[in-house]
Amino acid sequence: MIKLVALDLDGTLLEPSGLISQPTLEQLKRINDQGVKIAIATGRPFARTLDPLRENRLYPGGTYPQLLICEERDIYELINGEYLPWEQNGAALDEELQNLFLGRRLVAQLEREAPNLEFAINNNYSQTTRGFVETYFVYPHQADQAFAFLTELTQNTGLKVTRNRRNVCLRSKNVGKGTVLKKVAAHYGLDLGEVLAVGDSNNDFEMLSSGVRAATTRNADGEIKELVSKVDGFIAQAEYSLGVGEIIKKSVS
Ligand SMILES: [Mg+2]
Repeated sequence: MIKLVALDLDGTLLEPSGLISQPTLEQLKRINDQGVKIAIATGRPFARTLDPLRENRLYPGGTYPQLLICEERDIYELINGEYLPWEQNGAALDEELQNLFLGRRLVAQLEREAPNLEFAINNNYSQTTRGFVETYFVYPHQADQAFAFLTELTQNTGLKVTRNRRNVCLRSKNVGKGTVLKKVAAHYGLDLGEVLAVGDSNNDFEMLSSGVRAATTRNADGEIKELVSKVDGFIAQAEYSLGVGEIIKKSVS
């Protein structure tokens, strides 16, 4: 029986318009009323995670999602109507910051050795508040190249490369939606088989292969659909939020 549902936002719960479809909101309300916990698992920072919740009238004043996993690292819990950070968030950020210098150095090496690649880098303020270097590529195939290049460079370091379409990030090896989701499951005393996760792209790979029940939507990247098939998960026939509604209807009774 599923007791916790973790949903990626962009490309998954949100339509390209930023809205959540009505049938999906009804499914979320149904399982919330049954006591199933609903978590958002996103690469977005906290403030930008609240934006779509506001737009879809889930916040303020809503009773779900009860948990927000932001930056693939930080956990916020809905307590008396507000999302409050878990105490461990500070230590997780500190750990990433310790690897920031190395991340900058590797991206500088990428710029030097692959001068054909066109990309922007998040600024110093973003790096020091979020804890990591993020690059944005003009062309998806160049993001592929950079992903491969940086994956090679991060071997035997404390860093790993994560990819979300045209964004490529250098993250601490100890962060990731799957790692965090496992902490959340342990916190509530849940087995991984009682957790359902839904995502659509590379930064969901770790979460969908972490031993939880995995599902994805029709619009997902090929590698994610392959993974979900391999772990006997469910691939919705519908895209984006309608796909999420379909998954919840089928998987959470
Ligand atoms: Mg996504």
